[in-house]
Amino acid sequence: MNPETTAVHAGREDCTALGVHVPPLDQSSTYPLPSVDAGGAAYERMATGGRPEAGDSLVYQRLWNPNVDRFERALASLEHADEGVAFASGMAAITACLVATVAAGRSHVVAIRPLYGGTDHLLATGLLGTSVTWATADEVAGAIRPDTGLVVVETPANPSLDLVDLRAVVAAAGDVPVLVDNTFATPILQQPLQLGATLSVHSATKFLGGHGDLLGGIVATNAEWAVRLRQVRALTGGLMAPTSAYQFHRGLQTLPMRVRAQQETAQVVAAWLDRQYGVARVAYPGLPGGDPQGLVGTQMAGPGSVLAIVLEGGYAAAAAFAESCRLITHAVSLGGVDTLIQHAAALTHRPVAPEARPNAGLLRLSIGLEHPADLIEDLDQALRAARAAADVTRAPADLRELATSAP
Ligand SMILES: *Cc1c(COP(=O)(O)O)cnc(C)c1O
Repeated sequence: MNPETTAVHAGREDCTALGVHVPPLDQSSTYPLPSVDAGGAAYERMATGGRPEAGDSLVYQRLWNPNVDRFERALASLEHADEGVAFASGMAAITACLVATVAAGRSHVVAIRPLYGGTDHLLATGLLGTSVTWATADEVAGAIRPDTGLVVVETPANPSLDLVDLRAVVAAAGDVPVLVDNTFATPILQQPLQLGATLSVHSATKFLGGHGDLLGGIVATNAEWAVRLRQVRALTGGLMAPTSAYQFHRGLQTLPMRVRAQQETAQVVAAWLDRQYGVARVAYPGLPGGDPQGLVGTQMAGPGSVLAIVLEGGYAAAAAFAESCRLITHAVSLGGVDTLIQHAAALTHRPVAPEARPNAGLLRLSIGLEHPADLIEDLDQALRAARAAADVTRAPADLRELATSAP
């Protein structure tokens, strides 16, 4: 089936037989047990990462929830994956992947920067017992060691919007599983498992939810990894709530439409920004020169709807720009129906080591479903405020140096 059809119907196949039009919401924290033995057997199956069998009690919500299962099956269908495993947030999903890697006895991670600031921070601190080697895509093969358990990559990257050739990374990783943070692309534009990756991770908080009112994460993967991730989830408890799963599942129904409409508007806005005085650079894979490896149209079906601008005037201009937006909300996060703008070095990428932090004049924009003309009008007046404020002396000491460095 085509993704539009899958998005509307997946995870709902049994509704007609149940006599309902939408999935019932099951909020049970615990479930009646038919007998001690049957309950114990079901517990054993699910606590070790398995699925319940027909007739099993679901025992306890930390082991299983039908709405979470529905959302997982729907996302897995869209991503052409065996299974999906959902978590309380994107970071809980990434944490589970790292915990499963360490548990398998291989705690070294090769990671390609830039990554989402939280992922970079988690790897840099080694909080979960991992060690990290930072590499460019070309350096992956040389960075692999006998104890390497995972290669981590994000494309489009956050916030540079650089595209990374996933086929090349998978080839360089050899037997080591590759985790792709697919948050920016969504399953509509990119399916990393089809390119040889083992784990495709989403901050569902962003495009999958799409309305700025949910936190969640999900991993699309093969059957073997799904068992390992469900076991980590059952033991550590980073669960997606049933009400959230219900809303994420509903959000998926409009995902293909939202992604394409937002992308169309992003293309118009990016082209306009690229022509403006005071904008030093627009990072967007849909602009000429924005995709030097030619990955749009091959690896990725389109350039997406997140872009970054680097302002002349560095930090001060960027701060004035973000603070002057009226229609566009000055806020972190992305992928929702409304347009957001944020200063990556000060906010989402604040924990990143100084040498890998984004340019202080960089703002990340997530384009929503508004009319492009209304967005451009707001950006135009914010740009005038930014030009007036272009004075690097306003930068705090730790960002002042970056304010004058090259993009
Ligand atoms: C937001 C985000 C995350 C973290 O997800 P949460 O749902 O906030 O925990 C991870 N990766 C990317 C690319 C993100 O944008």
